[in-house]
Amino acid sequence: MTRPLRADISLSAIAHNYALAKRTAPQSKVFAVVKANAYGHGLTRVARVLKDADGFATLELDSAIQLRKLGVESPILMLEGFFGEEEINIFANYNLTTSIRDVEAAKQLADADIQAPLDVFLKFNTGMNRLGISGPMSGFAIGLAATHKNFGKVTLMTHFATADGVQGVAWQMKRFEEIVKSAKSALAKKGFTQSVANSAALLRFQKTHLDWVRPGIMLYGSSPFAERSAEDIGLKAVMTLRSEIIGVQTLEKGDVVGYGASYIAQKKMRVGIVACGYADGYPRHAPGTNERGTPVVVSGKRTRTIGRVSMDMLVVDLTDIPHAKVGAPVCLWGEGLPADEVATAAGTVAYELFCALAPRVPVVEVE
Ligand SMILES: *Cc1c(COP(=O)(O)O)cnc(C)c1O
Repeated sequence: MTRPLRADISLSAIAHNYALAKRTAPQSKVFAVVKANAYGHGLTRVARVLKDADGFATLELDSAIQLRKLGVESPILMLEGFFGEEEINIFANYNLTTSIRDVEAAKQLADADIQAPLDVFLKFNTGMNRLGISGPMSGFAIGLAATHKNFGKVTLMTHFATADGVQGVAWQMKRFEEIVKSAKSALAKKGFTQSVANSAALLRFQKTHLDWVRPGIMLYGSSPFAERSAEDIGLKAVMTLRSEIIGVQTLEKGDVVGYGASYIAQKKMRVGIVACGYADGYPRHAPGTNERGTPVVVSGKRTRTIGRVSMDMLVVDLTDIPHAKVGAPVCLWGEGLPADEVATAAGTVAYELFCALAPRVPVVEVE
C-alpha cells in the first residue's frame, strides 16, 4: 500500500472552464494563463488539454520553451517580459511575445541584435503600481514600438488591481483609455490591439474583453470573487486533493490534539488522522482551534479540522461520522468542497493552495 494522498486533476474540467471563458468573451482571443506550472496543475498536462487555445501566457522562460517543444504554435505571451538583454535572442528564437514592463525593457529591445521583430505587449501602469510603463513615459515607448524594426505587432496592455472588488475597473480603465487615445496617431499606420482582462474582469465587465483576455484562476475552476462561488459562475473544480483516514483516536473531555495542544476536547469525541500536511501543500495556517476549524469532507460528510496542521498529518472531527474508520475517504478540497472555501477559512486564496501543491503529492489525471 502507498500513502493515500493524491491530487486528481480533471482534464475535462480544464476544457470546460476554458470553453466558458471563450463563451463569455466570444469576440476576444483567450490566452490560457499557465504561469507557475499552470497554477500547480502541471504545465504539459494543461497544454495538452488546451492545445487549440488561442495562445498561452506564462512567466518562466523554461515553460515557454517547453510549450514550443510540445508543438504549440500559437502566441506565447511572456507576462513579465525578458530578464536581461541576453534573453532577447532566446525570445526571438522561440518566437515568444514579450511584455514590455518598463522603458528600460523597450530600450533593450531596440538595442538588441535580432533577425526578426518580437511581438510586444506594452504594459502600462494604470494604478496597480507593480510593473508597467507609467503615464509620462508611455509616449516614448509607444513611439519606439511604432517605428523601430525590432518591434513587431503591438498590443497595449494593463493589469487590474481590483477587478474582483467594489472598486471595480473603471478607475484604471479611464487611465488606460487615455493612453490608448494618445497612442492612436502614433500607431495609426501599424495598428494595435488591446488586452486588459484577468479572470475577474472577464467574468464581470464585458467592456474589458477587447482583443485578448488573460484568464488564469477560472481555468482551474476557482472563483476570483469572494462573494460569488465557482459553481454559481459555472466553473468546474480541476484539482481534487484526496486522502484517507490513517488513524482514529477517541478523546476524553480535556484531552488535547497536536502540536501546541491548540485544541481541547470539550466532551468525549472521535477524531481521525489524515495523511496530508503542510509538506504536501496544505496550509499550516488553516485554523483548528476550538472556536474555528477548516472545512474537510470525510466519507462524503462535511466536518472540520482540529488542532494544528503538522508536516505530514492533520486531524479531523469524526464525532458525527461514526462509520468513518481507517481507510475512510477524505477530500481536502476540490469536487464536493470548493478550494475557495478552504482558502477563505485559512486566510488565503485558492491560487496559493493550488500553487503550493508539493511535488511529493502524486497526481492522477481523471476525465
Ligand atoms: C496571472 C496574470 C493573469 C491571470 O490572472 P487571474 O486572476 O488568475 O485570472 C492575467 N494577467 C496577468 C498580467 C497576470 O500576471
